[in-house]
Amino acid sequence: MAWRTCLSAGNQIWAWGGLWVIIALRSATSPKGGPMDSRPRRQGNTPGVPALEVIGAGLAGCEAAWRGAANGLGVRLWEMKPGLFSPAHASPGLAELVCSNSFRSDDPGTAVGLLKKELRLLGSLTMAAADAARVPAGQALAVDREAFSGLVTAMIEENPLIELVREKAPLSLLDGRAQGNPLVVAAGPLASEDLAERLAGLTGAENLHFYDALAPIVTGESLDLGRIFRADRYGQGPGGDYLNCPLDQGELETFMAALTAADRLRPRPFEEERYFEGCLPIEVMAARGPRTLCFGPMKPVGLVDPGTGRRPAAVVQLRREDLAGTHWNMVGFQTRLTRAAQEEVFRLIPGLGRARFARHGAIHRNTYLEAPRVLDPFQRLLARPAIFAAGQISGVEGYVESAAQGLWAGENASRVARGLAPVLPPRASALGSLLWHLGQGNASRVFSPSNVNFGLFPPCPSVPRREQAARRLAAAEGSWEPFLGEIGYARLGR
Ligand SMILES: Cc1cc2nc3c(=O)[nH]c(=O)nc-3n(C[C@H](O)[C@H](O)[C@H](O)COP(=O)(O)OP(=O)(O)OC[C@H]3O[C@@H](n4cnc5c(N)ncnc54)[C@H](O)[C@@H]3O)c2cc1C
Repeated sequence: MAWRTCLSAGNQIWAWGGLWVIIALRSATSPKGGPMDSRPRRQGNTPGVPALEVIGAGLAGCEAAWRGAANGLGVRLWEMKPGLFSPAHASPGLAELVCSNSFRSDDPGTAVGLLKKELRLLGSLTMAAADAARVPAGQALAVDREAFSGLVTAMIEENPLIELVREKAPLSLLDGRAQGNPLVVAAGPLASEDLAERLAGLTGAENLHFYDALAPIVTGESLDLGRIFRADRYGQGPGGDYLNCPLDQGELETFMAALTAADRLRPRPFEEERYFEGCLPIEVMAARGPRTLCFGPMKPVGLVDPGTGRRPAAVVQLRREDLAGTHWNMVGFQTRLTRAAQEEVFRLIPGLGRARFARHGAIHRNTYLEAPRVLDPFQRLLARPAIFAAGQISGVEGYVESAAQGLWAGENASRVARGLAPVLPPRASALGSLLWHLGQGNASRVFSPSNVNFGLFPPCPSVPRREQAARRLAAAEGSWEPFLGEIGYARLGR
């Protein structure tokens, strides 16, 4: 069992006695009758037939299965490890953290901190295990990854309502699911190929992506608008949708030198071949020669800087991420620079000297659905409404986001299995905003997976800029209590 691995690693938590921790964790998070109370109280389950099936026991799948059991359903959870590993997974434990051991900020004043707070209110298994396996990391919630995975594994294995099947899920699970017991597909960004192919068949191959290139997003209030001008190329467009950061020749040369020398993440072997010409990392384009970027994402044609009356040597364009203009996307700046290097190098761009990064750029292998086109608002496949997509494959990005979306998919799948209508969390909340991004929020836009960030929250345009963050937080926090009452969810406190 995975918890023995933790013991051998000499983890402090397990040195006290692994089972004690599981029991303590369970009693701390499973008040009698509360949503974490997953003692057997089967509801409408047919013996031998699970009311809910889940593919993939990563962060999202474990949350979904846990919620199903907490709702009294018999759950079958399929996990292909240890018989088969994806190129990034290495441990037999469930909820394996494939890269960083950090769940990012735990400050509820940040979007991801707020999402954690909501997850704790909802009785999240991930948060309970992460809190128990926490290691010191300042404001961040970082964990001992083996202890974390060991706890989740033990909680799932010990749950009498969950049957963990250590095999690749048969594709027949997806067939004939027009009606019937719900299935949650939580196979992650590196889902097995056969499953990805079947999903592509169900949704249309053009709606299942295998690769993700993210440009950084900076916050509007951190921009120096004295250095930036508003204009659309050749004056086209309704009137200045883009913000333009102009560089003169000297600034361009300084920027190029820093960009080509900056630290970058080394691609993993399974990611290397995935670059394609239409979507090269900005630093790869820069390395091809000084003019490459000026004919690509930094091209200045069709733009005149009103400050000089001339066309700049190069321009970095910022495209709005939200109507209120609180967040801006650096167009074409997908990158594999490290986060520290991105901040250092991109702050050399005029107007971005004090830029705050709501999302850093990235390029990585990622299997995900074009959510707004193929999922309904509850993340069910339009083509097969009994199938829920959960976790990274549904179009969210990140550990916390995958766990959060998985929890809610599990909740809604349980509701459907019990004959209830699915529900959405409040739009003002962090979870509601994250799910909104998968649906209505992107109906008419190019979809790209996203971490939770304040750009996804409902705008409050009439509020002065410096008060907006506080106002959003208040709206998010105020929205939960009535909602939990409305759907009959006991408050767990904390
Ligand atoms: C290389 C890489 C590094 C990443 N690093 C970070 C990071 O540092 N921080 C961060 O916040 N996010 C990171 N992410 C993004 C993402 O948040 C994580 O991948 C996260 O684990 C996604 O959770 P999930 O539950 O959706 O998928 P996973 O955690 O990947 O879980 C999916 C599970 O499904 C299983 N599975 C797949 N196919 C089948 C099948 N057919 N049958 C049965 N089981 C199956 C897999 O074995 C796996 O256990 C990274 C992603 C990748 C690919």
